[in-house]
Amino acid sequence: MRYRTLGKTGLKVSEIGLGGEWLERHNTEEVKEVIDTCEKEGINILDCWMSEPNVRSNIGAALKGRRDRWIIQGHIGSTWQNGQYVRTRNLALVKPAFEDLLSRMQTDYMDLGMIHFIDEPDEFKSVTGGEFMDYVRALKEEGRIRHIGLSTHNPEVAKMAALQGEIEMILFSVNPAFDMHPATDDLDTYFDWENYQADLGGIDPQRAELYKLCEQNDVGITVMKPYAGGRLFDAERSPFGVALTPVQCLHYCLTRPGVAAVMAGYDTPEHVEQAAAYETASQEERDYAGVLARAPRHTFGQGECTYCGHCKPCPVNIDIAMVNKYYDLATMQPQVPGTVRAHYLALDHRADQCIGCRACESRCPFGVKIARRMEQAARLLRDTDEKTYLIAGQTGYADPNYFSFVFKRHFGMPPSKFRAEGQD
Ligand code: SF4
Ligand code: SF4
Repeated sequence: MRYRTLGKTGLKVSEIGLGGEWLERHNTEEVKEVIDTCEKEGINILDCWMSEPNVRSNIGAALKGRRDRWIIQGHIGSTWQNGQYVRTRNLALVKPAFEDLLSRMQTDYMDLGMIHFIDEPDEFKSVTGGEFMDYVRALKEEGRIRHIGLSTHNPEVAKMAALQGEIEMILFSVNPAFDMHPATDDLDTYFDWENYQADLGGIDPQRAELYKLCEQNDVGITVMKPYAGGRLFDAERSPFGVALTPVQCLHYCLTRPGVAAVMAGYDTPEHVEQAAAYETASQEERDYAGVLARAPRHTFGQGECTYCGHCKPCPVNIDIAMVNKYYDLATMQPQVPGTVRAHYLALDHRADQCIGCRACESRCPFGVKIARRMEQAARLLRDTDEKTYLIAGQTGYADPNYFSFVFKRHFGMPPSKFRAEGQD
């Protein structure tokens, strides 16, 4: 594993990090397995933005006895209210949530105290100019955070943070799709930072400026969303029309100026090993240029869910990120896979409970039309499923999947398509 200096914090972080997001759906033992594998591979930095109590406790249990081997990004402003994640600036809620983080992680400090998720320039001004920042400063003076960081998806806010002076590092969303702005097919100039000209437009000039600014001001970047929620691994869903490998995505991020570590998310030890394979990959395996050459003439990022979970809370407790994930998985296939349907049906709160309030949409950094998406998911997953099960039961088939199979053989299409074509 190679290590890089995280800007003016001076911390030596592994260039491959651990983004804790995916650990939320795993039990204590599984979380420990992932963290053990990370440590075996030399990974030493992790991000825990999640406020969900179990995941905090599971990470804390896994780190017991080896806390000092890890550099932790702990978020200030991520709270747990009524069983859901809520981002807030209300100090009466922020303070106990940070105490909860420390206590569940079994530690008395965070290496990096992250001002959690600011995407609006006005909010940046009010947070850094008000009592929230006073609280952050006090935490640093007390040694309960060692350094000040900030997380954002907006390059404008990230630039403000890079210039603010007290903020020492930024957690920022980076991947080739987010960065891409079309203008040239000339790969010699696309990512030639030495000779980069803004009017080439290969990368959003604002992002290009951010990376340079961070490097100039010694503000380190750790990366979130390196795989765009897994979409870049899939030729069908990638804006490039070709699948990238984890190694190619990581190489893209690690070749941006200012970037010190990529906080990839892992479900299993195998996922950790796939990312750590970057360290021994050949230049050919890392090369993403051939893929970028096929980039279409549009940008990616707006309207596509990356399953980040920032849209919570939902008044009817829908896990929007999970519903979107199952919906996306379902629409990738001609027929809804049984396993996807089963996972969706196991959710405590499904898309059909959405009341269309759209409170979530203003919190989504990627402009997803969530209420409409819930309607689509409810139609595709719930209705299809319940009707198929119902018809299967009425026709005497115990296994609805087998019923679908027989139906398809007989009618030449699955029951869902049959109904979608108005033959219900
Ligand atoms: S629009 Fe639907 S999913 Fe979004 S917060 Fe309201 S009820 Fe929840
Ligand atoms: S809808 Fe938006 S905020 Fe919610 S999980 Fe998807 S990308 Fe994140």
